[in-house]
Parts: sequence; structure tokens; C-alpha cells
Amino acid sequence: SAKDAGQNMIRFFDSDMDGQLHEEILLTSELHGAVQRNEFVLYLQPILDMQSGRVVGAEALIRWLHPVRGFVSPGVFIPIAEKAGLIVEIGGWVIDQACALLAGWVGQPVLGELTLAINVSAKQFGRGDLDQVLARSLAVHQAPANLLELEITESALINQPEQFVDLLARLRRLGVRLAIDDFGTGYSNLTYLQRFMVDKLKVDQSFVRDVALNSQNAAIVQAVVQMASSLGLKTTAEGIEDSETFDTLRLLGCDQAQGYLFSPPMPAPDFDGWVMRRIENGQTGDCS
Ligand code: C2E
Ligand code: MG
Ligand code: MG
Ligand code: MG
Repeated sequence: SAKDAGQNMIRFFDSDMDGQLHEEILLTSELHGAVQRNEFVLYLQPILDMQSGRVVGAEALIRWLHPVRGFVSPGVFIPIAEKAGLIVEIGGWVIDQACALLAGWVGQPVLGELTLAINVSAKQFGRGDLDQVLARSLAVHQAPANLLELEITESALINQPEQFVDLLARLRRLGVRLAIDDFGTGYSNLTYLQRFMVDKLKVDQSFVRDVALNSQNAAIVQAVVQMASSLGLKTTAEGIEDSETFDTLRLLGCDQAQGYLFSPPMPAPDFDGWVMRRIENGQTGDCS
């Protein structure tokens, strides 16, 4: 009967919830160990100038190489790290690795001019000492602040208290750049764009994905690009997987491109070679 089916569904739903909760508890405890044993790896994904096809930077994306599970996606473990209070330590590791990479690029042809973006969790911003953490790491590694870009999601920006504005002002004084990640998914009040003095909007993948086929997505991207341009902000489209999408976004006036069409994220040590090969090949077209 329908009632039995309903009861079965409830039981099934309950045990599924149990499973998820159990998995989360397990991952939380394993994540503590991962921090101690440093099971993290930094990957880099190139970011290109849309018009010239030149590499202009990279985004650093963390990976957890679990001894048994293999790679665990940051989409899975970052939210757990945030809940478990581990994000500040993990985020600190990312900052340190990024500063070391940037310092290693200084003075090198092409590499020396690239921007390196890192993702920063709302919890890291919320502590209020992010400028000091960054200043220390930049100084230790002798890395150029103006080539470090912080990506923070639109939704994380919105829920911040008033003192957040002070932190952003201190970050600007430090000289790092600010980008809003996953733009278009968070909030409709755009006044904060002026208020927070950001440099770049990263158009969310959900608008990028079928922009060549979906005229509504194209209209949204066009509106974002126009608004960004009149506010003096750059736009990056992420998640570009095919050349139709790339061509459409270029026509819509996006500044920068990121996606599997050019390269998936790669282990950081492979990045220099990828850039050099791309330059040898003339830096044009997709180069997978
Ligand atoms: P995000 O910052 O929006 O990063 C872009 C995500 O899209 C990355 O997933 C990247 O691998 C993926 N991607 C890039 N190009 C394509 C494409 O053409 N097609 C598709 N389908 N996907 C593409 P990833 O590396 O799994 O990271 C997921 C999210 O985890 C990131 O989204 C970011 O929010 C978070 N994350 C990653 N690394 C860190 C970190 O070091 N700290 C913090 N707080 N969060 C991080
Ligand atoms: Mg990002
Ligand atoms: Mg994003
Ligand atoms: Mg995302």
C-alpha cells in the first residue's frame, strides 16, 4: 500500500541520512590526520587572456590525496574542514604554497608576470587576521603581493559583518587582488561591488556551460560583462570546455578564460613546462 511504501521510504531516507552522517564523521576524523601528515597537494589551472590567448595566470586548487580513498575532491572536504575548524590551518598551507610558487616565478620570463589566485574560505576572512597571515607568508617567501589574487565566493561576501570592510581595506593596502568567485549565484544586491573594491568577477560555470546554446545564459553573461566593465572590473569565465563556448564568451567581451578546453588543473610542478610548451606553440588556440 501507499502507507507501506511511505514507511519504507522513511526508513530508507533515515538510513541514508545515517550513512551520510557517518561518512562525514569519518572524513572529519581522517581530515585531522591529513593535516598532521600533510596529505595535501596543490594543483594549478591556467587562466588565459581571451583575445590574445596568452597565459596570464593560474588558479591554485587544493587536492587531498587520501592513502586509501585516493583523491578526495575539495568540493567534499573543504566544507567539512570549515565545520571542523581545520580550514584556517589548511588555508594557511595553501597561502604558504602559493607564496612559495610566486617567489619561484620572480624574474623568470613569462612566469614572472603571472597572477596566482587562491581560494579563500569565508571562515578565513571571518577571523579578521588574514592580512597579517598573508603579509607574513609573502615576507617569508619574498613573494610579490600584487601577483597574488584572493578568490572569495559571492555568497561568503554577503554574510560578512561590518568589520569585514576594514579587513578588505587592509588587504588592498597590502596590495593583493580580490576576485569574486562563482559570481551570479549568490545575491542580487550589487552595491557591495563598489563597497568592497574588488578587481575581478569570475562568472559562474552554470552560466558558462551552455552559453552558446542558451540565449538566457548569454544575456546574463553579457549583463555581467557590461556591468563589470563600467565598474572597471575584469571578468573571467571558468568552466570552458569547448571552442563554441570560448568563441561566444569572447564575442560577449569576457576578459579571461579558464577551463578544460585549455587544461584541467595539473600538479603545480607540471605548470612551468605547460606554459613553456604553450609559448613554443605560439600561445594561440586551444592547446590540450
Ligand atoms: P572554484 O574555485 O569555483 O574552482 C573551479 C572548479 O571548477 C575547480 O574544481 C576546477 O577543477 C573546476 N573546473 C575548471 N575548469 C573546468 C571545466 O572546464 N569543466 C568543469 N566541469 N570543471 C572545471 P575543484 O578543483 O574540484 O574545486 C572545487 C571547489 O573547491 C572550488 O571551486 C573552490 O570553491 C573549492 N576549493 C578548491 N581549492 C580550495 C582551497 O585551496 N581553499 C578553499 N577554501 N576552497 C578551495
Ligand atoms: Mg575559485
Ligand atoms: Mg568558481
Ligand atoms: Mg565553485
